[in-house]
Amino acid sequence: MSDDMRATYLRVLEYLSTELPDDDVFSWILRETDARGIPRIQISPVQGRFLHLLAQLLGAHDILEIGTLGGFSGVWLARALTPGGRLITLEANPKHAALARETFQRAGVDDRVDLLVGSAHDTLAHLSLDRPLDMVFIDADKGSNWEYLQWARAHTRSGGIVVIDNVLVNGHVASPHPPGWFARTIADFNRRVFARYADATTIIPFFRPEEDMLDGMMIVRVS
Ligand code: MG
Repeated sequence: MSDDMRATYLRVLEYLSTELPDDDVFSWILRETDARGIPRIQISPVQGRFLHLLAQLLGAHDILEIGTLGGFSGVWLARALTPGGRLITLEANPKHAALARETFQRAGVDDRVDLLVGSAHDTLAHLSLDRPLDMVFIDADKGSNWEYLQWARAHTRSGGIVVIDNVLVNGHVASPHPPGWFARTIADFNRRVFARYADATTIIPFFRPEEDMLDGMMIVRVS
């Protein structure tokens, strides 16, 4: 991206955050994330708003998130639920889960969030749901994306969606020989999804100025 284009993009982000200001809870999460030495790998505000709107469009009552981190995306999702709705969110790291628990209280959504701590593989193997999910957000150990997607498809209603974060790896996935394990893993995952669900999937690119990289979210509609 040229410097001009980057400056323009930053101006647009500034414009959006001014015109559509976020709740203070999000800046609190970022401060606590830094203070507790937790990696700053949460989604961006623009992406949070995007997930929020997707959930609203679905009329989502039941959402599952894999990878809670500090609760940034979880607040956006929980606030989009229809009345009486639930967000189940899975986190492997107790330190991250402790921050997320405080986040959900602070955001006033702890009454509709179930935060389950432990390996997502174990939790999913034993999770019993009262009804099919409307939406699943996958943002955890990237090598498990395909397994999580298959679980999600089996537990999501027809017309629901699965969203998978971090699927562009700064554009490296588009290379014929993606450099490094991470880019190769994601490129393989994307190829499998495109081959199997071509009619029901796309990737929305997002530029992440904090990391100066192009990232993306995949959306897969469940039929
Ligand atoms: Mg992510």
